[in-house]
Amino acid sequence: MRAFACPACGSFAPFEATACSACAATIGLHPPSMTMFELGNDGVDIDGRCWIRCTQSVTLGCNWLVPEEGDARGRGRCLPDSLIRREPDASDTVAREKLVPTAQALRRLIYQLLDLGLPVQPFWRADGPPGLAFDLLSSYSERERVTIGHAGGVITIDLVESLDAYRESLRVRLGEPYRTMLGHFRHEVGHYFQHILVETGSGADEYLAECRALFGDEQASYAAAIDRHYRFGAPANWAESFISEYATMHPWEDFAKCFAHYLHITDTIDTAREAGMVLQADRVRFAAPRDVVPLECYDDVPVERLLDDWSWISLFFNRVNTAMGKNPLYPFTIPPPVVTKLDFVHRVVRASARERRAG
Ligand SMILES: [Zn+2]
Ligand SMILES: [Zn+2]
Repeated sequence: MRAFACPACGSFAPFEATACSACAATIGLHPPSMTMFELGNDGVDIDGRCWIRCTQSVTLGCNWLVPEEGDARGRGRCLPDSLIRREPDASDTVAREKLVPTAQALRRLIYQLLDLGLPVQPFWRADGPPGLAFDLLSSYSERERVTIGHAGGVITIDLVESLDAYRESLRVRLGEPYRTMLGHFRHEVGHYFQHILVETGSGADEYLAECRALFGDEQASYAAAIDRHYRFGAPANWAESFISEYATMHPWEDFAKCFAHYLHITDTIDTAREAGMVLQADRVRFAAPRDVVPLECYDDVPVERLLDDWSWISLFFNRVNTAMGKNPLYPFTIPPPVVTKLDFVHRVVRASARERRAG
């Protein structure tokens, strides 16, 4: 995540900031330039256009700016908020409370996808591949069961997962080392990108055979896979070739988990780099083979460089977390077969970004 600065005083401004905590300037995020701008009562003039707050600034705690003459189908919402297809009724105040942190996680997701150059095609636009939609529903208030998942571009999220106690109890019950709302978004969007970049279109000719060789045949019965996973659990030797137990369930879950980890790793490295973090080998008290200087862009280097930087940076953050009595930040080990899978994700993401930049 980029380290934003207040346009008025230059102080650090968090991604979600609507006002500067140092000088109280009213600020908002301008998506095309991904910078913060100071706003007056009538918005702000940027490059001859008037930009105003997204219509969800109050209801969903949004700080993104939209052009005053926006796309009507976007309902005056910023891109991430316009992707929300279903949300709890205004009368369901309990569920709507949980919608705010969930929409913030969604904006972090969309920011990163745009930053990586991945296509973010809204469901409400008729042209192009199947668009992305988010149904953000609460299993406490819906009459139907709310199951987190992806189908045909529609990602369903259970808002109850934004309750720490609920999410943590599930994490413990399922034996997961890590469970967050942002993690759910990153995982589910992995299913979407596997579908549009690997399984269909021109990607199928280029990637599908390799994807099956690495992750397994995605045509295997999903229902049988769920049944097997919840009855017998992961194979005893899962850690030799998977990032998590859940990844062993079905080839789709393996891909989605690897995709989510790719987003975890690249965003966390980026956040450290934007803060000026460098690990100097001659200043650590254990053997470190080189200085670790996070790159602004890992497009032109093999995934091994990314993952080697990550092994040092995550070691540092894991130790910082445990110093505070918390669980390690990144409680995972990446075995060699997962390096190969992450390399595949890295290549698919970079090729898609290159194609978009060229087109
Ligand atoms: Zn300021
Ligand atoms: Zn918004």
